[in-house]
Amino acid sequence: MKRDDVHKCTFCCLIFQDAAMYHIHRNMHDKSDIRKCNMCGKLLQDKYDFTAHFLSMHQS
Ligand SMILES: [Zn+2]
Ligand SMILES: [Zn+2]
Repeated sequence: MKRDDVHKCTFCCLIFQDAAMYHIHRNMHDKSDIRKCNMCGKLLQDKYDFTAHFLSMHQS
């Protein structure tokens, strides 16, 4: 896998090796407000809050 294939969420600073996983994650960010979780509608405070929410609630 090339280094170019690594995907990074510019808001959370999370690194994804897999493009599909990256797109799933990006879809979690609401289009109108990147801090809002698209899966449950919760508005998070910042990237740390969002990342903690993502990892604890939506990462299996
Ligand atoms: Zn993100
Ligand atoms: Zn959520």
